[in-house]
Formats: sequence, C-alpha cells, structure tokens
Amino acid sequence: MNNQTLPKAELHCHLEGTVAPDVALRLAKRHGYDISRIIAPDGRYNWRTFNDFLAVYDVVAEVVRTPEDYYEIFLDYYARAAAQGLIYGEMFISSDHPQAVGISYDTFMETLNQAADDVEAKYGVHVRFVLHVVRHYGIEKARAVADLAEKAPKRRVTGLGIAGDEAQYAHADFTFAFEAGRGAGLQTTAHAGEHAGPSSVKNAVMHLGAQRIGHGVRAAEDADLLTLLKEQNITLEVCPSSNVCLGVAPTIETHQLSALRAAGVPVSLNSDDPPFFFTDIGREYALAQQHHGCTDADLIDITRTALAAAFCDDATRQSCLAHIDAWEKEHLA
Ligand SMILES: [Zn+2]
Repeated sequence: MNNQTLPKAELHCHLEGTVAPDVALRLAKRHGYDISRIIAPDGRYNWRTFNDFLAVYDVVAEVVRTPEDYYEIFLDYYARAAAQGLIYGEMFISSDHPQAVGISYDTFMETLNQAADDVEAKYGVHVRFVLHVVRHYGIEKARAVADLAEKAPKRRVTGLGIAGDEAQYAHADFTFAFEAGRGAGLQTTAHAGEHAGPSSVKNAVMHLGAQRIGHGVRAAEDADLLTLLKEQNITLEVCPSSNVCLGVAPTIETHQLSALRAAGVPVSLNSDDPPFFFTDIGREYALAQQHHGCTDADLIDITRTALAAAFCDDATRQSCLAHIDAWEKEHLA
C-alpha cells in the first residue's frame, strides 16, 4: 500500500477537534492552565465514557483562546495531514467558541482565511470552511449563524452544516437556517444517522435539503434509504474511528463502511476529531484497506467521490483531480 502518498480528501473535521495533545499542552502552558489530568501516560487524550470525551473536548477547546492560537492549531493540523497525502480539506467551524473567548467572527475568519492561504502555499492542501449550527445551542443561536451565513463575507466559507446532540430539536426546526445558507450561495451538509437512526438521515434530506450527510452510517439499517442516497447521489462523510470510539459501530471490522459501499452509496473517509479518536486521515484510509478490503484503486475512488461532493469551485476540483491522475499513473499503472 502507498498509504502515505495516496491522495486523500477530507470533508468532515471539526476545528477545535484537531488539537493534538502536544499542541494542547503548549497552549495550556501559554495561558496558565494545567491540563495534565486529560493526558494519559502514553501521551494520548485520556477518556473512557462518552461524558469523559465531552469533558476532555471542552478542556482542550478552552486552551484555544486567541487568533494566534487558532492560526497555530490550523497550521499544525494541515502540516500533519499533508504529510499523509491530504490534498483537499473542509474544516467545520462554529462561531460559538471564538465568541466565548472574545474573538469576533470577523477576526476569527480573517485568521482562518490567512491560515488557509498559508496552508495552501506551504503544503499544497486546498481548504474550504463549512460554518456550523450547533443544534443543542437552540434556535436563537441558529438564527445568529444563519445571519452570518447570509451577511458575513464568504471567501473560503462555502458550506453550511449542522452538528450537535441529535436528541435535541428536530432537523425540521432548522430549515430556516439552511434556506438562508442556500440563498447566500452556500452548499449544505447535516450530521445525521450517527447516534440517531436512519429516520434522522431521511429528515436531514427531506427537511434541510442536505447535499451531504455527516456520518449517516446508520442508513445501513434501511435498504430503502440506501437506495435513496444512491439515487440522489448524497455522499456520506464516514468517520470509522469516531464511530467505533463512540459506540456507533461495535468494532472497526463490523463498521457499516462495507455495507454502504456494497449498496453503491457514495462515501468519503474522514477523521472527525482525530486526536480524540486516536486517529488521523492516513489511519482512516489504512483501516478501510486493512479491515474492509479496499485496494489502493478503491481508496483513490473514495478520494474522487469526496472531491465530486466537495464544496469548492471547479478549478480547485480539477486541480485536485489532475493531481490524483498523475499519482495514479505513477503508482497504479
Ligand atoms: Zn462531526
């Protein structure tokens, strides 16, 4: 396997979820926080239950406090991902955390756009942003996000998404936000079919008109839904390690990836909150190869599927596809 250089595209990754433990420790020291309790002796994040995971995530997010911190975590993430063959990445962002630490949305986006320019120049990774509604924060917060989607300058922001606790509110409660996003030229994705079952995927398609589904793996429980996803060419942002860590799939071997591929549903591979799930984009591709029989050619197909569903302009898409063609000629011919 040519895993390190095999071209990869990632559509599903949360900004504050990319912070590696060594980076978190550096930021904590800078801001005078002691976070040693969340780092295990082997240097990885220390959590066992879902509630621990949420608590550790919050502790890490808390040490990201300034625009410089955001710039640093962003460059660090894409330097690591580029070394594993990433050529295109979509980063999920929310306005809530920067706001909570006193960074305005304008400053936040200025920082991220500059960071993305620098990542592209330094590492050759094309990056786009997907602004997110966090559903458990409620409808009023969602209205504020819809407002930003409509009025704030876009630059590399090309998508609108929804994440958060699937048990709270219904997808239909957020139709207004997705309509606002679409009206402003944004493309759309919705987390569904992770902790909630196949009906949540149907709802995200029906009520939000989502073009892609974040996770969506529980669609594997409903044959009609699989047909619908295939026929409507709705790409799933599949995150295998995340699903195993959070109990959405019992093991990597029994993960829904094979069933989804067998049904002809378009899938991409993603790391979600990589260091929290002890993974990275290279590992997600390697797991698909080791446990789901994907050949290098299959993995390249998965990257092409991701690019076909990417929220980017055609010139960017074509440049990534040309890179893949060249790689394929050199390695798989
Ligand atoms: Zn996610």
